[in-house]
Amino acid sequence: MAKAAIEATSTSEADDVPDVRLSGVRKTYGDVVAVDRVDLDIRRGEFFTMLGPSGSGKTTMLRMVAGFELPDEGRVELAGADVTDLAAYDRDVNTVFQDYALFPHMTVGDNVEYGLRVAKVSREERGKRRAEALEMVRLPGYDDRKPNELSGGQRQRVALARAIVNRPRVLLLDEPLGALDLKLREQLQVELKQIQREVGITFIYVTHDQEEALTMSDRIAVFNEGRVEQVGEPEGVYERPSNAFVAGFVGVSNLIHRDGGSFTVRPEKVRLIAPGEPVEGLVVEEGTIADVSYAGMITRFHVTLDGGDRLQVARQNLEQTSHEDEGMRGERVKVGWRREHTVAVAEQQG
Ligand code: ADP
Ligand code: MG
Repeated sequence: MAKAAIEATSTSEADDVPDVRLSGVRKTYGDVVAVDRVDLDIRRGEFFTMLGPSGSGKTTMLRMVAGFELPDEGRVELAGADVTDLAAYDRDVNTVFQDYALFPHMTVGDNVEYGLRVAKVSREERGKRRAEALEMVRLPGYDDRKPNELSGGQRQRVALARAIVNRPRVLLLDEPLGALDLKLREQLQVELKQIQREVGITFIYVTHDQEEALTMSDRIAVFNEGRVEQVGEPEGVYERPSNAFVAGFVGVSNLIHRDGGSFTVRPEKVRLIAPGEPVEGLVVEEGTIADVSYAGMITRFHVTLDGGDRLQVARQNLEQTSHEDEGMRGERVKVGWRREHTVAVAEQQG
C-alpha cells in the first residue's frame, strides 16, 4: 500500500511538471532592466501569451527561452530539465519571427525541409513530414513555389510549417502576425489556434495586441517594464484586472477614484439609465456626456462623472442608429452597472 501511494505521487508529479519554467529570470542591458525577475510556469500543450506594450521585455524573455540570450540571474527549465546554460540548438524549441525569415532562393518545400536536412533525416522521411507540415498549415502542394510567389499570410504559414516540421516540444512565436493587415490577421489568429490544438505543441506567443491575446490564448501573462503584472485566463485578465495597468492595457481603463480607493468597470457593462428606469441592484453615477462616437456595432459614450473621472460606456446598437445619439453631447445623464461588475484595482506602484 505504501508503494502504491508512492507511485501515485510520482505519477501526479510527472504530470505536473510544467513544459517551461522560468524562475527569477532577469536580464539587463547596461542601465536598462529588460526583464526583471520573472517567474512563470507554462503547461504542456498550452497556448500561452506574453502580452505587453512595446519595450516591456517580451522579446528578451522569449530569446532567453530560445537560448539566444543568457539571463543575468534565474533559471530556465524545459520539461523539468535546467537548460539555462544550453546552447539554442541543443534546446527542443523553435522560433517563428515576425519577418518570415524564409530562404528566398529555396522553394517552399526546401524551406520546410531545411531543419530535417540539417538533422540528417532520410529523404523518404523528409518528404513525408514536409507534406504533413504543409497540409497542417493549409498549403498542400505548394512545395515548388518560391517565397516571392506567395502572399504575406502564405509566407508566414510556410515559416510555421518549417518550425513545426521537426516537432519541437515548444514553439516560440514573436509577433508572427504583426506585419499582416487586420482582416488577414484575424483569419490567421483563428487558424493558428486550430493548428496549435491539432499539433499539440506548447506555444509561447508574443503580442502587443490585447484582442489577439484574448482571442487565442489559454492563458496570458501581462508584461509591463520587464515585470509580469498578472497571469490568468483571458476572461480573468479582462474581467478581473488586478491593477490599474492591466485594466488600462487589456481594454479601456475606466478607472474611478473614490475615498482613497480605485475601481474599474468595463464599458460594455455600463448603460445609460433612462429617466424613471428602476435602478435596484445597480451602482449609479451621474455625469455629463462629453463625447459620442458611433462605431457601427456599438456607440461609445464618454461621460464625465460629477466626481471628475471619465467613464466610457459602450452601447450595442440593437435598435438605434447614429443620428439619435448625435444630439446627446453635453446632456446630463445617469449611468449604472450591476454591483458585481465593479472591480477593485490596485494603483500602480512607482
Ligand atoms: P518588447 O519585445 O516587449 O518590445 P524588448 O524585450 O525588445 O521588448 O525590450 C525590452 C527593453 O530592453 C527595451 O527597453 C529595449 O530597448 C531593451 N533592449 C532589448 N534588447 C536590447 C539590446 N540588445 N541592447 C540594448 N537594449 C536592449
Ligand atoms: Mg518585441
